[in-house]
Amino acid sequence: MPDSYDFIKSVLDVSTDSIVVIEASGEVVFANTHWNEFGRANGFLSTYDWGGANYLAVCDVAAESGDADAARAAEGIRKVSRAEQDCYYLEYPCHSSVGQRWFMMKVSQFVLTDTQYLVITHNDITQRKNAEEEVAKLARLDDLTGIPNRINFEEALSYQWKRSIRMKTPISLAMIDIDHFKQVNDTYGHSIGDKYLTFLASIFSKVAKRPDDICARYGGEEFVLLFGDTDKAGAVQVIDELTKNVRSLKIPNENASTKPIITLSIGLKTLYPTKNDSSEDFLLSVDNLLYAAKRAGRDTMAASLSSDNHQTAEFEIVN
Ligand code: GH3
Ligand code: MG
Ligand code: MG
Repeated sequence: MPDSYDFIKSVLDVSTDSIVVIEASGEVVFANTHWNEFGRANGFLSTYDWGGANYLAVCDVAAESGDADAARAAEGIRKVSRAEQDCYYLEYPCHSSVGQRWFMMKVSQFVLTDTQYLVITHNDITQRKNAEEEVAKLARLDDLTGIPNRINFEEALSYQWKRSIRMKTPISLAMIDIDHFKQVNDTYGHSIGDKYLTFLASIFSKVAKRPDDICARYGGEEFVLLFGDTDKAGAVQVIDELTKNVRSLKIPNENASTKPIITLSIGLKTLYPTKNDSSEDFLLSVDNLLYAAKRAGRDTMAASLSSDNHQTAEFEIVN
């Protein structure tokens, strides 16, 4: 093997990793070609000379101006330098002229003729991150209808719940169950049933207009509509319009015993949550209201009359 600096430098320069070698003080003793390109893409002048620059100082300055990842990077480098750990890894996002990218920083060290050197590499992991984000996004959508699934809804409820407690604002939740949906499958077949669900999901979703609203498939032929910062009058009006809209479409369900068309039973409750309330109790009381609507003959909405979290609260039937 050729035993020369140029040989080793050439090997490191063809690497697609950005590699820099520093001393424990932070002083840069080597930077490969890709490191210089990486520096230019991230705001360093093309004439910036990394030779003799101090990488730890660059991180510390960025950290002082509020860059939390730079603070973590500097701390990680110092931990490896103090031999508190063998290696340090950091995944971090990076805004640059080519858009949002992700990098993985790795710090390791070696000692040569009594001097400690730290090797820092930065890998572009944007493709992997984007793939992971896509998978995470798909895992939160319902396979059939493409709208948010129950997990997604529960996260949204948890977020809106805490926000409502903090801001002292109302939260409204409607649980929708399609009436006699089994008859749809039995009469027209399961695949037409699937098409019904997808179509109805798209209609329900249009009602969730604001950023604080979410429409999700709760399971089977049950859907939820959550409205952040929305009082009872506002929620009743929106849901009433939705019910009338679905009725007016006259989607056939000819063997249903209530009416020969698709109708909805809905439980609706508005609450000003406090820290003494639980979102599980809230969900349970809305579920009870939905069954009250079923018992009242279907094709109807049972709206809670009170804004506290008691499951025995009285309700009114809105047709
Ligand atoms: P109710 O008015 O009491 O709500 O009657 P229902 O028939 O709507 O309720 P039930 O719970 O008896 O039946 C729900 C039906 O929904 C049965 C089930 O096969 C159907 N269903 C649930 N998920 C899907 C789905 O993804 N696709 C199709 N096609 N049907 C589904
Ligand atoms: Mg049901
Ligand atoms: Mg049903």
